[in-house]
Amino acid sequence: HVKVGVLALQGAFIEHIHTLNNIAEVTEAIPVRTEEQLNSVDALIIPGGESTAMALIAERCNMLEPLRAFVRSKPTWGTCAGMILLADEASKTKRGGQQLLGGLHISVNRNQFGSQKESFETDLYMPEVLGGDTPFHAVFIRAPIITEIKSDKVKVLCKLGNQVGSTDAETIVAVQQNHLMATAFHPELTSDDRLHRYFVGIALQHKA
Ligand code: GLN
Repeated sequence: HVKVGVLALQGAFIEHIHTLNNIAEVTEAIPVRTEEQLNSVDALIIPGGESTAMALIAERCNMLEPLRAFVRSKPTWGTCAGMILLADEASKTKRGGQQLLGGLHISVNRNQFGSQKESFETDLYMPEVLGGDTPFHAVFIRAPIITEIKSDKVKVLCKLGNQVGSTDAETIVAVQQNHLMATAFHPELTSDDRLHRYFVGIALQHKA
């Protein structure tokens, strides 16, 4: 069994906690705001929100270094803004760039889909991850994409080409690098908990 934290400095953290609470292997799901709370969990989800704001708040709360240390060794899943924070490199950052946690050897492009397509929903196939052919209904909100994989440790879990009827076989929207996982979309906004279960599986394996 594992205790899972959800970074709660900013963004859509409560929905992740609700989903985690329905998974039997999760003994406790807590919002994480302090170093003490961070050090009490086996695994962490960094939610969607605004990556620049989240990084600024983390810096002000002296959480940047504890978070960097955590993601080096403990299972962490970044969704949307969380994916940006986990990336080694992000483009379209504001003046002078923004603080990232890094560790996941990818480059991301923030707000990839621009204003005319800020948000969209689509069905993605990820049979290996989801354990079957039922697609995952993915919600993208001002989403980033992965533009570059910088290490052969990074495994592509899903491309937009896995979308029903899509011809885009290039755009990467979910990856895993050992104990780190990232998705460009918001799995906490649907009732499908298969990605949360997959992540809890990583956490269980890591703890064993
Ligand atoms: N556009 C946001 C960012 O750059 C991410 C959006 C989201 O998390 N839904 O941080």
